[in-house]
Amino acid sequence: MKAFTYERATDAGAAIAAVSKAGAKFISGGTNLIDLMRLEIEQPTHLVDISRLPLKGFAESPDGGLLIGAQVSNSDAAAHAMVRTRYPLLTQALVAGASGQLRNKASVGGNLLQRTRCPYFYDTAAGCNKRNPGSGCSAIGGINRIHAILGASDACIAVHPSDMAVALAALDAEVGLLGANGSSRRIPVNEFYRLPGDAPHVETVINTGEMITEVILPPPPPGRQLYRKVRDRASYEFALVSVAVVVAAEQGKITAARVAFGGVAHKPWRSREAEAALEGRPATMATYRAAADAAMKGAVGRGHNDFKIELAKRTLCRTLANAVQGG
Ligand code: SF4
Repeated sequence: MKAFTYERATDAGAAIAAVSKAGAKFISGGTNLIDLMRLEIEQPTHLVDISRLPLKGFAESPDGGLLIGAQVSNSDAAAHAMVRTRYPLLTQALVAGASGQLRNKASVGGNLLQRTRCPYFYDTAAGCNKRNPGSGCSAIGGINRIHAILGASDACIAVHPSDMAVALAALDAEVGLLGANGSSRRIPVNEFYRLPGDAPHVETVINTGEMITEVILPPPPPGRQLYRKVRDRASYEFALVSVAVVVAAEQGKITAARVAFGGVAHKPWRSREAEAALEGRPATMATYRAAADAAMKGAVGRGHNDFKIELAKRTLCRTLANAVQGG
């Protein structure tokens, strides 16, 4: 690990000023960043600890939504009564991620910014455009079983690892940001992440020096919420494919639907195509299958991960059926 200096920020303005120095980086729970520093993939010269900033609260918004502070732990977010009762999708996604110990330490803001788990990203002997722009992508033509089937590029086929972000995408959540001049803005989660294109090292639309202050949930959408994660082992594992659905049905007909996938792209993958194929149609397996086909219409396998296309379709069908039946 490279040497670095450390300071604990006392307020948000001081944190943003401190991180404006060259080589500085925010640290919160550190559950991903410390690993990356040990491997010298991340080499900050100065760490600004924001974990004790007063961003650990929950607040109901006047419109019936919920604001979650960026420094709330993943465990506390999952356990909060309002999250459990009104946004069960978010609780389900959070508890599907990592381990209890990691969820106690990891923050909501940090969860959004965790890096890919592509093994070549962590292997400093391998070419990786995300870690070292211009060095190539070892996953293309390499072992790519866990990699993207949607939205990838010839520069990078990595997937985003967060479960929480997939639920937030389906719930139309926004990310609150505070900037260097005290300005604040909100970005929908569905516009927060970039596809890899020719610059996979640029993963979000955050500007240098901006800090995540909160996640804003709008009032819960109508219908049942369900998150399903398919992985190689039952816990402490990233998704091969995950699906977040919110679906409402009346008299056997789907009246509203939200669908987002995880483990398939460089970002949480909201499928408007699947939603359009569901709304107004009978709540039957034929409809779910048509929606799954629409969702995966542009999917491309790279060899080892070809199975993910059918896996994503079947996972969506099963999740929709369970959600409609109240499972
Ligand atoms: Fe690097 Fe992306 Fe290729 Fe993985 S998929 S080796 S992260 S460029």
